[in-house]
Amino acid sequence: MKHIIFYSGGIGSWATAKRVIEKYGKEDVILLFTDTLIEDEDLYRFIEETVSDLGVEFVRVADGRNPFEVFKDVRYLGNSRVAPCSHKLKQDTAKKWITKRFNPDECILYLGIDWTEEHRIKAPTENWKPYTVRFPMCEEPYVTKDELLSELEILGIEIPRLYKLGFAHNNCGGFCCRAGQGHFANLLEKLPERFAYYEVIEEELRQFLGSNVAIMKKTKNKVTFPYTLRQLREDIEAQKPVDMTDVGGCGCMVDFDNIIN
Ligand code: SF4
Repeated sequence: MKHIIFYSGGIGSWATAKRVIEKYGKEDVILLFTDTLIEDEDLYRFIEETVSDLGVEFVRVADGRNPFEVFKDVRYLGNSRVAPCSHKLKQDTAKKWITKRFNPDECILYLGIDWTEEHRIKAPTENWKPYTVRFPMCEEPYVTKDELLSELEILGIEIPRLYKLGFAHNNCGGFCCRAGQGHFANLLEKLPERFAYYEVIEEELRQFLGSNVAIMKKTKNKVTFPYTLRQLREDIEAQKPVDMTDVGGCGCMVDFDNIIN
């Protein structure tokens, strides 16, 4: 039986890998990393160091496109409701690799969802059927993200820099089409060049689609409207209020929303 961990470069998938190895040993464990091609450069350092420390098989797969190329291909700008990048680059790519090599009774899949996110278990459990998915970080002992980051430090492995910069996840180089105002405000402050790059790409996609769409949305006077990265930056520069609690949430291998083909 193979134990395949969706290894994203996030702290949750690292902790999941540790628990699986503790239970089953190293021999049949595979860390499967789906590269979106816009990952933070430090993510590769983190993966390399942790894979070396864990001492198990590592596999990198990639669709070959990045999220923005997917948005163009499917003619849809990803947002908090629908993230075609997650389907194409993460879920479909992983599924192709797994189904080609293993039958459902030959492997168990593992996701790094933890006990604070148990409500997210149902969708991947259903959607990976007939494959079995397990969530070791939802089991005791319950640990916090800060405790896991401290464990890394004890091992002498540097914490991924996006966490140190205040991002909730280590995916897509600090970008996520599911993210909200608070997340992108942090990106503007900490990695302004990267924000500027995404701002240009969003505008290019709006022109390409010929539609008033945006990655984010904003509600004012009970009316919700598309809210572009450019508008967010201009609001911040003008010291207008920004909802810093709206960080959104990435759920690449977790959320299975409306699929856009
Ligand atoms: S992290 Fe966000 S932008 Fe990147 S693939 Fe996942 S849903 Fe898409």
